[in-house]
Amino acid sequence: MVAELISVGTELLMGNIVNTNARYLAQQCAMLGLSMYHQTVVGDNEERMAEAVRTALGRSDVVILSGGLGPTEDDLTREVCAGVMDMPLEEDAHCRERIEAYFKNADIKKITDNNWKQAMVPRGARVLDNHNGTAPGLIMEKNGKTAVLLPGPPEELIPMFKEQVFPYLQQIQPEKIVSRMVKICGVGESKVESELLDLIDAQTNPTIATYAKVGEVHLRITARVKDDDEAVRLIKPVVKEIRRRFGNAVYAVREEETLEAVVVHLLAKYGLTLTTAESCTGGLLAGRIVDVPGASEVFREGFITYSNKAKRKYLDVNKATLKKYGAVSKETAREMATGGVFATDADTCVAVTGIAGPDGGTEEKPVGLVYISCYMKDHVVVEKHQFSGTRDKIRQQAVVKGLDLLRRCILDNYGK
Ligand code: ATP
Repeated sequence: MVAELISVGTELLMGNIVNTNARYLAQQCAMLGLSMYHQTVVGDNEERMAEAVRTALGRSDVVILSGGLGPTEDDLTREVCAGVMDMPLEEDAHCRERIEAYFKNADIKKITDNNWKQAMVPRGARVLDNHNGTAPGLIMEKNGKTAVLLPGPPEELIPMFKEQVFPYLQQIQPEKIVSRMVKICGVGESKVESELLDLIDAQTNPTIATYAKVGEVHLRITARVKDDDEAVRLIKPVVKEIRRRFGNAVYAVREEETLEAVVVHLLAKYGLTLTTAESCTGGLLAGRIVDVPGASEVFREGFITYSNKAKRKYLDVNKATLKKYGAVSKETAREMATGGVFATDADTCVAVTGIAGPDGGTEEKPVGLVYISCYMKDHVVVEKHQFSGTRDKIRQQAVVKGLDLLRRCILDNYGK
């Protein structure tokens, strides 16, 4: 079954608002297993809107429209769809009552005439009650085609879709799409793809799509299924095979699991406390840890030691080390992690020192050079990285590598 979206509003065409409804509705349609080949944005113009609706109904089974259902002159979606589908508008007693009740509830005495426009319903259409505004939504069915009309404000559209449209579409579209996300860290996108080439080439159902993120690769495994049992039967072996090929590099198999959440949960699982010692990332790493609910259980302290003086003062980095090897060096990174643990009595410390740029690079130590270290069980692991990109990108990559180093150290030391 093919679905199509029409987003109505001159504001969208002018770039005054972002079309978040289209994103939401497209994701929902994908979840429902509906195919989608077209999306249109059209202004509040009767002729052009009618043409868009006619075209969409000509090539798709379900056309979902958002916006233009309000009381004002330029809200034309209801009228245009009624005209194109030849379902004349009639006043609907139930809608009229709801509008009256809405205004009474809001303690507004005078209901302006144009509000009654929202009680006009195409003959034979199904009304979708709006619990968060006045404009009701509509489902119009004719000659095997369906138009679903939804109000523009997301706080009205989303609950209406969830509660009333999703179940309706589920009922007319028995197949659904189920997907699972596998998240990989520490392996580049091209390597991931080449390692999975045989699976990607052979894919029909489920399919595997790769997405490159900063320092990570995500794989979405998507299956078209009749029910949840079939989803498990099709997706589970693929996840298992990816895990077999990438081992510990797979850090999550659920969309909502983030790298920092995995790290915090691992620390909590093994009863470990963490301190961070950051130079070029300036607290970003600590920020990602603190983003996770429950971080207080494991996070001890976060040092931002940007200057040499601060590295010495808070982390007891040796003056001679800084002089001989420099702030961006394996030796300094090692002492930062050790100093963080001893200064706070934590079980582990991740330290980051590098050159984020755009200035400050030399031939010997170019922009993007970052040392990341992790102290654990009286032992310090130091990794050298050469990142590329903007200052922001370099710092983000350093944070991901820092989190991942910590994750791997925990698994290596405690995971067996
Ligand atoms: P109302 O009853 O509020 O007039 P409506 O159905 O007529 O609702 P519009 O007038 O088209 O909707 O849009 C109202 C508001 O909803 C917009 O100003 C905007 O804030 C939001 N909105 C509309 N369309 C979208 C969209 N596609 N994505 C995100 N927000 C939107």
